[in-house]
Amino acid sequence: MATADRLSLRLCSSYHWVIRAQRPRKNRKPMLDTVPFLLQSGFPSIRRGRLQAVQVNLGYRCNQSCLHCHVAAGPKRSEQMQPETIEQVLEFVHRQGVATLDLTGGAPELNPNFRDLVMRARRFGVHVMDRCNLTILEEPGYEDLADFLAAQQVEVVASLPCYLEENVDAQRGKGVFEKSIRALRRLNGLGYGDRQSGLGLSLVYNPPGPSLPPSQPELEADYRKHLGERYGIAFTRLLCIANMPIQRFGSTLLSKGQLAGYLDLLRTAHQEENLEAVMCRSLVSIDWRGYLFDCDFNQMLGIGLGGDRGTNLRHISSVLQEELSGRAIGVAGHCFGCTAGQGSGCGGALG
Ligand code: SF4
Ligand code: SF4
Repeated sequence: MATADRLSLRLCSSYHWVIRAQRPRKNRKPMLDTVPFLLQSGFPSIRRGRLQAVQVNLGYRCNQSCLHCHVAAGPKRSEQMQPETIEQVLEFVHRQGVATLDLTGGAPELNPNFRDLVMRARRFGVHVMDRCNLTILEEPGYEDLADFLAAQQVEVVASLPCYLEENVDAQRGKGVFEKSIRALRRLNGLGYGDRQSGLGLSLVYNPPGPSLPPSQPELEADYRKHLGERYGIAFTRLLCIANMPIQRFGSTLLSKGQLAGYLDLLRTAHQEENLEAVMCRSLVSIDWRGYLFDCDFNQMLGIGLGGDRGTNLRHISSVLQEELSGRAIGVAGHCFGCTAGQGSGCGGALG
């Protein structure tokens, strides 16, 4: 059996876990909080190194409403970063000498100030990454978005949790795979995924259930073969990201009695050498209101810079020039998701 076929089988059989985890919206149970299970973790203490990247959540509005979404984004969400906070983000990036601005959401492109932010950051020479759901490129009013991203040399980081249509549609909604393929072809047509053009196109994979991601190079080869042969699609790299035992995924584990087992799996697979490369060492995360966190996962858990919580959260307006290097990072049990096996972060495997 060819590698791609073996992988298809592996993905399909493990995918049942996700499909069973989903239920009609009206019958969905309230989300269970995993934080109390994460706080006494034994995760080693770590400190931030040189700040190189800022990840900014521009709001929770999205043209999709995927059942697995860890921010519960959707068309009806109204939270979005306001222009004055965007000004502060730009000032922070400028004063801190940050090299990379990583934009996320919801669909970050739906923030009315998205393009202005991108253009101004690019004028400073900052590398901009757009965590794009692909289908936004087909929405009415956004037909020129792909051209804009290419013209601004924005790196596109796109979630494609499988190369099989039924799996993507089950997780992200009917018809999403087909739209994603059209969007990827369009991006390829603009030079994305072609190493000569310098337009980076990264695809993101995360496992469908409580298991560690497979080897990133091997899975990337399978994606490349399948998407290339079947759809003529090229991409720059595949990023394998481990599932964090937080938010909806954590809640599902808890309700199925699988949280302790998954935490054990992550803890047992901890690799000390990955501590050097975890993303919080070189990144901070900013939520749509302008509060700072050590990473996007901590943002979702409400764990602020250095582990502060509640009213102690720090706002970007108070740290514009503050030296963040050398500061302690707020860690908890979910952090083993970053150091288990080949390691994991927003940039994929850490190795
Ligand atoms: S596309 Fe992304 S942000 Fe939007 S609902 Fe799906 S997972 Fe959430
Ligand atoms: S979860 Fe966040 S704080 Fe913990 S190791 Fe990973 S990046 Fe760092």
